[in-house]
Amino acid sequence: MALIFENSTCSICKEVLTENHDVITWQTFLSKEHKFWKYSDSGMHKSCFEKWKYKEEFEELYKYQPYIDFDDPTLKRMIKEHGMPNWLQEIKNYRAKNRI
Ligand SMILES: [Zn+2]
Repeated sequence: MALIFENSTCSICKEVLTENHDVITWQTFLSKEHKFWKYSDSGMHKSCFEKWKYKEEFEELYKYQPYIDFDDPTLKRMIKEHGMPNWLQEIKNYRAKNRI
């Protein structure tokens, strides 16, 4: 989760996030080159997110986790040695269903 400090601002409306707002935070899941990168490690008002025009696209990306490379040798070795963790299996299933 992104850490929300005092005076953190909503990445959508740019207003300061305060404790009495419903806030959604994201951990970084996109590379810097990605058009939504600045939103991928940020906090935002739940209300802003709900009406954000990129909401669905962003949520899809979050489920897809484009950062994760299943062909990465380190990841392959980890899976071989320790098995596939549930969260990784979910991403894999998601990708199999939704080819972007
Ligand atoms: Zn906002």
